[in-house]
Amino acid sequence: MEAKLLEGKKIAEKLRSEIQKQIEVYSQKLGTVPALRAIQVGEDHASELYLKSQRRAAESVGAKHETTSLGPNATEQDLIGEIERANRDPRVHGIIVQMPLPKSFRTDRVLDAIHPDKDVEAVTARNLGRLLMNKEGLAPCTARACLRLIEETGVDLYGKEGVVIGSSKVVGLPAFLLLIGKKVTSMICHTGTFKSGTLESHVRRADILVVSAGKPALIPGAWVKEGAIVIDVGINRVEGKTVGDVEFETARKRAAFITPVPGGVGPLTVMTLMENLVTALAIQQKK
Ligand code: NAD
Repeated sequence: MEAKLLEGKKIAEKLRSEIQKQIEVYSQKLGTVPALRAIQVGEDHASELYLKSQRRAAESVGAKHETTSLGPNATEQDLIGEIERANRDPRVHGIIVQMPLPKSFRTDRVLDAIHPDKDVEAVTARNLGRLLMNKEGLAPCTARACLRLIEETGVDLYGKEGVVIGSSKVVGLPAFLLLIGKKVTSMICHTGTFKSGTLESHVRRADILVVSAGKPALIPGAWVKEGAIVIDVGINRVEGKTVGDVEFETARKRAAFITPVPGGVGPLTVMTLMENLVTALAIQQKK
């Protein structure tokens, strides 16, 4: 039996049309459409690609997108000043600080300058704290996309074993918290787990496996539990091809559901960003 593909692209299209309708309603009722401002320092190839997909997604739902580019010599204080300007600007509803930042910048300090109500990537301590408290609000897009894909399977999650590989603040940790919120018995593995040689034993137990390490073929298909849900977040370039962190062909023979790379988590992440933008506008309108 081959696993059913969890095609993020198709789910993203469904979400796109829902968001577009919501934006039309806002536009008619309030005379305003949500606007996203991305702020970048210097130039970076991966950042440019992300900006391009943000613009495409914004256009597809009828939202506004603009980019403020600071030159490579901008200081941390220049960047914080730009964020504060966007915080005060009533025409801006969502703010993204493009990564990577110059090495000398204190990333946490910069990100925490974003007003929590405009924090559409949920990178501020306040929004991550809300997630910890299992409160509604803005949650990190990729982690939320993972949960949506898992829920799309229709499998009852209650009491299932969940294993998340990777403990980043943007993917692994929030995905773990979202799973806990769904009463999945969950754990996080990271480089320490790998080095101690226990990664395989944890993966083999997982009914729900979320992998976000950025290491091609980290998870051999043979480790995947029969009937598992496998969400592969990794994006790696290998010999000119984009691949995930899981050995796809062997894993799909054991799993019940699996995301392809590309076409799985990625397209849904950027649409979830649009969903967060609409949520941010709603939060700001309420106040
Ligand atoms: P990160 O580099 O911030 O964190 C990687 C995590 O993986 C760390 O916690 C590290 O401990 C763990 N890790 C690394 N090597 C490991 C190993 N050998 N065994 C076990 N754990 C290991 O990464 P991130 O920002 O979470 O991104 C991870 C991957 O996901 C990257 O490939 C990135 O491009 C991709 N990504 C995809 C999307 C999407 O929308 N599809 C979004 C964000 C990130």
